[in-house]
Formats: sequence, structure tokens, C-alpha cells
Amino acid sequence: SSTKQDKEKGVNVQVIVRCRPLSEDELRVHTPVVISCNEGRREVSAVQNIANKQIDRNFLFDKVFGPASKQKELYDSAVSPIVYEVLEGYNCTIFAYGQTGTGKTYTMEGGARKKNGEFPSDAGVIPRAVKQIFEILEAQNAEYNMKVTFLELYNEEISDLLAQEETSKLIDDKSKKPIALMEDGKGGVFVRGLEEEIVCTANEIYKILDKGSAKRRTAETLLNKQSSRSHSIFSITIHIKECTPEGEEMIKCGKLNLVDLAGSENISRSGAREGRAREAGEINKSLLTLGRVINALVEHSGHVPYRDSKLTRLLRDSLGGKTKTCIIATISPSIHSLEETLSTLDYAHRAK
Ligand code: ADP
Ligand code: MG
Repeated sequence: SSTKQDKEKGVNVQVIVRCRPLSEDELRVHTPVVISCNEGRREVSAVQNIANKQIDRNFLFDKVFGPASKQKELYDSAVSPIVYEVLEGYNCTIFAYGQTGTGKTYTMEGGARKKNGEFPSDAGVIPRAVKQIFEILEAQNAEYNMKVTFLELYNEEISDLLAQEETSKLIDDKSKKPIALMEDGKGGVFVRGLEEEIVCTANEIYKILDKGSAKRRTAETLLNKQSSRSHSIFSITIHIKECTPEGEEMIKCGKLNLVDLAGSENISRSGAREGRAREAGEINKSLLTLGRVINALVEHSGHVPYRDSKLTRLLRDSLGGKTKTCIIATISPSIHSLEETLSTLDYAHRAK
């Protein structure tokens, strides 16, 4: 229903919510559930009744996926249509937004590759998107090339998840400072020295994902749970050769960004202590700016504050204009997460 309206406004932002199931640990201790999802009505309700505090709130979204939802369901319904747009030459972005532990990485990456090479049923958005892109292009017998980048943004600094260890921190040797984003003169930015891997088969994506995720994990142990405070951006760029009816050759270019955002709890913890204060501020900056940018796009207000954070500068050519954006807000059903869940639902709802 909102599609027509979106077309008129020239913006296309879709907001969906996914609630994970209770974990085995939570089930064992009989954790109360306070979230209910009505997929048909696209509604999420948070209900808690304690004598002196009663919460009863309902939120409507473009799509809602309950705790029993499968990876394939979410993909087919919410992501697959966006992949077609990418192949038509759109720049599109899918964000996973939510508290740490609610399923952002599960949704984006999902289960590990199987030893026998079979496609895992719990594969997430990234491997499914790559698989679908190859299937469509092969079926069309298209001439194309596809490359991917995988980077991490931590404390407003970029590191390359595909580079060798020595070059992973993109440091300018002369100044020993992190390399700044460079404007490409066409409204976009690029990151100097970022590894680009050419991908020729869907299976190769697993090598790349494994390499990047292993790197993210190493950094995590070194820097104490870094991944909950960092954003990762997996980008797929596709060039397709086409012939016009007049027989002219042209290249169509589309891009898909798959973004696993820092835990949203970082946005509400601005009262962080000492050394963490700057870090919390910087994380707030990217998450808050993203919220403002999306608001400005949705509300069609004049100034869009892309320049206020690295995340929005990096994604500038894929947010606004001829682009599509999908925000997957992930939540926990547990009573213990209720406060965070409500702030995630509020943030996601404001993006609509
Ligand atoms: P985040 O990246 O948001 O911190 P994770 O993706 O690491 O969260 O998920 C936390 C845990 O919950 C993981 O063990 C993951 O496998 C599990 N999980 C998350 N979402 C789901 C889901 N929809 N179905 C089943 N398990 C899930
Ligand atoms: Mg994660």
C-alpha cells in the first residue's frame, strides 16, 4: 500500500521486524515472553503487566517475522525483490539493527557452510543474495562481473576484513593516521586501498565470509567484544553488459550493501565511563546519524546530514535518490530485554 506513496516521494525505505526465539538457556529458566508478533497484521506488541507498571504497546511495520520464521522465508519475502532491483541498476542497502544478541549476524550471515558443500538451510541474507544473483545472471546468460568488499567501521575508523593482517588497518604510512574516505567527484566516496575480490561462483562467497568473520572474531577477543560496537559492511557490486535495441553496448551497474550494525544498546549508553566515552560517542554518531539521514529521506526534508558520520558517508551513493533501503530490526522476546526492545521498535518505527 505504501509503495505508490513511496514512488511519489522518490524514497523507498522498508522497515521489517524479526523476533528471535528464546534460547535454550532462556527456556530452561522459564524466561517470560513479552513480545507477540502478528505476521498477517504486520504488528508487533509488547505487553507487560506488573502491579505498578503496565506496558501495552503496538507497532505496525511493513513486514513482521515471528520467532518461528525461517531464514528462507525472510529472504524470499523481504530481500529477494531488492536483489532484482540491484540487477536493474539500483544501489540498495539492507541494515540489520538491534540489541546485541538478537540475531543481526544470524540474519545477515546465518549458519556456517557445510563440509559437504551443500547450501545450509540456515544460511542468512548474504549467501542467499549471492546465490540468487548468480542464478539470475546465469539464467539470463548475461556477461557480467561481480566483486565484493567487506569492511568494518569501529570508532569511526575503517578496517578491511578481506586484507592481509598487516594491511588490514587502513593506515596512511606517512601520517600514521587512518586513511580518510576519498570523494570520487560523483557524489560517492571510496576507500583507498580497500581489497576487492572478484567472485565467480556462489561457493567462493563462503571463503570470503569465513575470512572476514574470522578476522572479526580475532579482533573481538583482542578488543573485548568489538563486534557489538562495530558496524560491518559487505558490499556486492555487479556490472552487467547489455545491448540496447539499436545494438549499442552499455554497462549497467548495481550495488548491494549488507550492513550488520553495532548493537543498538550502544545508542542508549551515552553515560559510558572514561575511556569508553569517546568510543560510545563515536558509535552513537554513526547510529544516530543513520537514523537522522533515514528520517530526512523519509520526511523529504531538505538537508540530509550524510556528512555527519563515516557510516552515512560510506553509504551515501546507496541512500536516497534512485535507491532502495530495507531495515531489519531484530528483537528478543524476553522480559529482560523489554526496555531495549522498545527503543529498537521506536527507532525502527521512526524510519518509516
Ligand atoms: P547479534 O549479531 O545481534 O549480536 P546473533 O546473530 O549473534 O546476534 O544471535 C545471538 C544468538 O541467537 C546466536 O546463537 C544465534 O544463532 C541465535 N539466533 C538469533 N536469531 C535467531 C533466529 N531467528 N532463530 C534461531 N536462532 C537465532
Ligand atoms: Mg553480531
